[in-house]
Amino acid sequence: MAYHGFFYAGGESAVARDASSQANTAASNARKAKAETESLAQRFDRLALMTEALWLLLRGRLDVTEEELAQVARDLDLSDGKLDGRVRRASAECSSCGRMVGRRHTKCLYCGTPMERTPFTDV
Ligand SMILES: [Zn+2]
Repeated sequence: MAYHGFFYAGGESAVARDASSQANTAASNARKAKAETESLAQRFDRLALMTEALWLLLRGRLDVTEEELAQVARDLDLSDGKLDGRVRRASAECSSCGRMVGRRHTKCLYCGTPMERTPFTDV
């Protein structure tokens, strides 16, 4: 290791402390990201399980076909204007005044009518 003298040694120490602090922050962020990823994976697994259970239940009771399921999924996918393998509804129409209201609102911002909730409103 090169000798940098007293003043440089002090400067390196501050740099080393800063690097150590940044490393600790990065490690903390990595732990949080890992925990969040594991939580999302668990939620995804649960959702996949429940979706397949619902499908098996409906197929057995309603005599629907996989083609019908695929068509409903395609129609639902297209309901937000894009065929992209997901449904993203940014807003919903108020049943009273017909204005569009963000999905996070429980009441219409314009007339106060409670917004329709579905089992998938918060998904
Ligand atoms: Zn309204």
